[in-house]
Amino acid sequence: MAWHSTGRHPRGLTIGIDIGGTKVAAGVVTPAGRVLARRRTETPDRSKSPTVVEDTIVGLVTALRAEYPVTAVGVAAAGFVDEHRASVLFAPHLAWRREPLRDALKARLGLPVVVENDANASAWAEVCVGAGRGSANVVVVNLGTGIGGAIVLDGRLHRGRYGIAGEFGHMTIVPGGHRCECGNRGCWEQYASGNAVTRDARELAAADSPVARTLLQAVGGDPALITGPLVSGLAAGGDRACVELLEDAGTWLGVGLANLAAAFDPELFIIGGGVSECGDLLLGPARTAFRRNLTGRGYRPEARIAAARLGNEAGMIGAADLARDALPRGRTGRRQPRLPTPRPR
Ligand SMILES: [Zn+2]
Repeated sequence: MAWHSTGRHPRGLTIGIDIGGTKVAAGVVTPAGRVLARRRTETPDRSKSPTVVEDTIVGLVTALRAEYPVTAVGVAAAGFVDEHRASVLFAPHLAWRREPLRDALKARLGLPVVVENDANASAWAEVCVGAGRGSANVVVVNLGTGIGGAIVLDGRLHRGRYGIAGEFGHMTIVPGGHRCECGNRGCWEQYASGNAVTRDARELAAADSPVARTLLQAVGGDPALITGPLVSGLAAGGDRACVELLEDAGTWLGVGLANLAAAFDPELFIIGGGVSECGDLLLGPARTAFRRNLTGRGYRPEARIAAARLGNEAGMIGAADLARDALPRGRTGRRQPRLPTPRPR
C-alpha cells in the first residue's frame, strides 16, 4: 500500500465505496488509511435496474467531493469482478450482470475509478494497515453466511487470471458431507462459516439434548430463533454447549487453513467476518487443528492465525487505496513491491 513505500508518499485523498447486500458505505480516506468523512445509505432494491446503484454511488461521491478534494474512486463490490477491474460479472445481491461499472462511473464522475471484489479490497486494507501490516504473504479468510477470502502474495493481491481467486468456501472438506447451495456436498463453508454454527446449534437444540438447555431457554424453546451472535454470546459467557459449537467450527477452520497453507505457504492467516469476533474461542481450536493437519508439520515454519482488525470499514479503506492504481503514473508515489519485505520472525 502506498503508505508503506519509503520516501515519496502520495498526496491527495481518495474515496472508497463498499457496496454490500444491505448498505452502501463511502468514505474519504487519507494515504495513511485514515477515514476523514463517512456516508452511508441503503443498497437500492435488487429488482431495480443496475443504474439505480450507479446513481447511489454518484450521489455519495458528489456529496463527499463537495467537502474534500479527491483524486480517484475505488469501489468494492460483493461479486465477481473481471480481471481488468472494470466490470462486475455477477453480484448475487444486485442486478449487475456483466456490468461495465468502471467506465460508467468514470464518465459520470470525471475521476479515475477502480472496481474490486469486496473480499480483495478488505484483505488489502488488513495487509496494509490492519492485522497483516508488515506481512507480504497473507491469506485472508472471511467467515460470514459463507466463507470468502483473498490472497496476497509478495505484497500484491493475487486476483487469478479471471479475477475470481480466493473463493475458498467451496473447497471440498468432507466428501459426501452437508449439501451446499453451490450444488456440491461437503464444502468448507458448510462446516466453518457463521451459518454452519447456526445450523449446528439449531440441530443440537432440536434434539432436545440436556446440554442445549441454556440455548433453548434463551430462545423460549424455539430452535429456529437461534442466531450466530446468540451462540457466540453464550459461549463468551461460558455455556459449554456453545463453546463446543465454536470448537467444532474452529476445528474445521483449522483443517481448511492447513489445506491453504499447503497451496500458498503464507506467513499469516487473517480471519475476518462476524464469527471471528469470538476470538480465541474459535481461533484456539483452529490453531490446534491447523498444527495437527499441516503438511510436513514439525519440519516447517508455521503461519500465524490472527483475527482481522479493521471491522466493517476494511472494504472501504482498501478500495480507497486501490483507487490509486487508476491514477496516472507518477502521481501515486508507488514503488514496486508496494509492501516492505516481511519482518524477521
Ligand atoms: Zn459449496
